[in-house]
Amino acid sequence: MFNALRKGFGLTFKSMFRPGVTVRYPEHRRPAAPRYHGRHVLNRHPDGLEKCVGCELCAWACPADAIYVEGKDNTPEARYSPGERYGVIYQINYLRCIFCGLCIEACPTRALTMSNDYEMTFDNREDYIYEKHQLIAPLPEGAKPLPHSDAEVAARDMDYYQGKAAQLPLAHRSDAGHRGDVSTGPEPEEFGDPATVPLGGGRTEPPRDDPPGKDRS
Ligand code: SF4
Ligand code: SF4
Repeated sequence: MFNALRKGFGLTFKSMFRPGVTVRYPEHRRPAAPRYHGRHVLNRHPDGLEKCVGCELCAWACPADAIYVEGKDNTPEARYSPGERYGVIYQINYLRCIFCGLCIEACPTRALTMSNDYEMTFDNREDYIYEKHQLIAPLPEGAKPLPHSDAEVAARDMDYYQGKAAQLPLAHRSDAGHRGDVSTGPEPEEFGDPATVPLGGGRTEPPRDDPPGKDRS
């Protein structure tokens, strides 16, 4: 009995004189681990064009249904990304997000990455739904604000991904048919399961029971 008390109190006294492992937050902030999964960032190319091409793969990969993306065609006069489309609406619902990083894995253009920012605590539910303007990286120094014209982009002669930008939107290109042009491509029913219909294949959006976005936070 005495030995047990001695051991127990001994441990308590030893712990009392050890340096603390906690800090007084928010007065003191410790840097997060380099690979910490924090708030998402939508990245840009060095000329300011958005890397996101509005493909929605991140939204489909998300197990928590936290991402909502709507793509829109770039035009020769107004180009926001080097792809056929760009993300005109991009929302992440941080009340749903579990910071698993699967959306990052799914992104084919490395547009989406995660930062070390973990300070996302708000009083209102709607503040947890981040819009595109809160997620997009700032314009690189010297870059012109978007949109850019195809002529401007072509003059830079940059390689984006594995090809030049400033291509006409797919629907207007002569080689569009082989990838399923929106006007000549296969009908969605030819693919069977709508979830497997390739993007750009003239698909109609499969029904979602509980569409993401502000209306279902
Ligand atoms: S980190 Fe995971 S839960 Fe959060 S948006 Fe990405 S895929 Fe969804
Ligand atoms: S997967 Fe990447 S490119 Fe596609 S919509 Fe998401 S962020 Fe944009």
